Amino acid sequence: MKKLHFVNGKWSGQHLETINVYNPATQEVTGEVPKGGREEAANAIKAAHLVFPEWRGKTAYERAAYMQKLYLLMLEHKEELAHIMTTEMGKPIAEARGEVEYAASFLDWFAAEAKRMYGKTIPAHVPNKRLQVWKQPVGVVAAITPWNFPLAMLTRKMGPALAAGCPIVMKPSGETPLSAIRLMELCEEAEFPAGVVNLITGSSSAIGAEIMANEKVRKITFTGSTEVGKTLMRQGADQIKRLSLELGGHAPIVVLDDADVEKAVQGAAVSKFRNGGQTCICGNRIYVQSAIYETFISRFSEVVAKLKIGNGLEAGVDVGPLINQAGVEKVDKHVQDAVSRGASLMVGGEPVQDLGPCYYKPTVLKDVDHSMLIMKEETFGPVAPIQAFETDEEAAALANSSPYGLAAYVFTESHRRGIHLIENLEYGIVGWNDGAPSAAQAPFGGMKESGLGREGGEQGLEDFLETQYVSISV
Ligand code: NAP
Repeated sequence: MKKLHFVNGKWSGQHLETINVYNPATQEVTGEVPKGGREEAANAIKAAHLVFPEWRGKTAYERAAYMQKLYLLMLEHKEELAHIMTTEMGKPIAEARGEVEYAASFLDWFAAEAKRMYGKTIPAHVPNKRLQVWKQPVGVVAAITPWNFPLAMLTRKMGPALAAGCPIVMKPSGETPLSAIRLMELCEEAEFPAGVVNLITGSSSAIGAEIMANEKVRKITFTGSTEVGKTLMRQGADQIKRLSLELGGHAPIVVLDDADVEKAVQGAAVSKFRNGGQTCICGNRIYVQSAIYETFISRFSEVVAKLKIGNGLEAGVDVGPLINQAGVEKVDKHVQDAVSRGASLMVGGEPVQDLGPCYYKPTVLKDVDHSMLIMKEETFGPVAPIQAFETDEEAAALANSSPYGLAAYVFTESHRRGIHLIENLEYGIVGWNDGAPSAAQAPFGGMKESGLGREGGEQGLEDFLETQYVSISV
């Protein structure tokens, strides 16, 4: 059945052309959504703009109550949401359940944070003045999200926007709009005022063009590739749009020779193979100090060889399909390039055609180096390339030799070495003996070409607020 747009509290888009949504595990059509464009985007922005005075005028406690209601509804419908997510993007059902909880946690945490949106009083330089800093919601927010976290990337933006008093217009990825539409049905149940939460699907370039040109949109929050992020930044220049950009990554995992090897192996496997290697913070390059290089590779290869690949709905599957065939082609290109330049294949190294066109074997490559594509480009797939290093300084230099700066991982039992190394890493997020660092209450975001701003934590709310300085003469 065709799902619809949620705009101004109503379902619309029946008349529009339809886009099919495919299940990457089976290639079956799993749903249909309307192909919206500039007009639909403009209508949604108008609705959000009209309700802005009402929404910002509510107390933080009132806004939090709506958000809490949605949070509880998401948990109540966890199983159903997880099923939709696995069916449209392929991640194993256990991971999908985890994502529903993670996604809901942004509503819970920011509902509470709404009540702590403090301003400031500054001591004045003369007796007859009172200097104050007030916080104001930035205005209508437009959110554009990717397919790899179909719910969490929406709520990580909705949470702080709604808490701050900003209505939101969202455009999910064309690959995964069904989870997003189900979330809108829950928003309807939570009875947000019409226009506070809106969602449209369709042509990304047309919807993007309207969002960037429409003066009512005061802030863009985007998660996706660095390439599209740069386009949006250019398009936003004319109106000096507020921008938050959560972009690509190429995370290094550095394993020092005093690491607990088993902990490092398990941590690296979690970081690398979660979501089939399709997260922006997935380890994409593993550097292991020479004294433990062989031991690490041997144990890591054993763990990877046991990962079960298949349809994410089946019990016990660790790695599902990639999002589409282009994803498989990119992964295979990286592997073939590395092998042709001298890397050795320890595990995997090919598609699993028997399962369908979107599956790729979890793969371990040994003796890679920086001449290889895989050490320079985001792979977004289940391939772990491993390179040896000698000194901590060399590890930092290798880790930093990328235009990206999102997440890095360090495995060491030494506080002294860990602290020195991390201080030298140009990365916005570091997991120290930890392969899964994300949490709603912590600032998530990158340095360098991985983006601008932070999502989550108090910093996440700040990005949806304007600072207004008020000087009062008394
Ligand atoms: P993408 O191709 O950049 O797409 C992201 C979103 O932008 C989608 O909704 C897409 O819509 C839309 N889009 C594409 N072209 C556009 C344009 N010209 N104007 C406006 N919107 C446009 O990225 P993806 O392949 O979906 O996601 C993977 C990327 O996201 C990776 O690079 C990953 O590292 C990054 N990511 C970053 C984070 C983070 O927090 N830093 C988190 C998750 C993912 P359509 O899909 O409908 O074309």
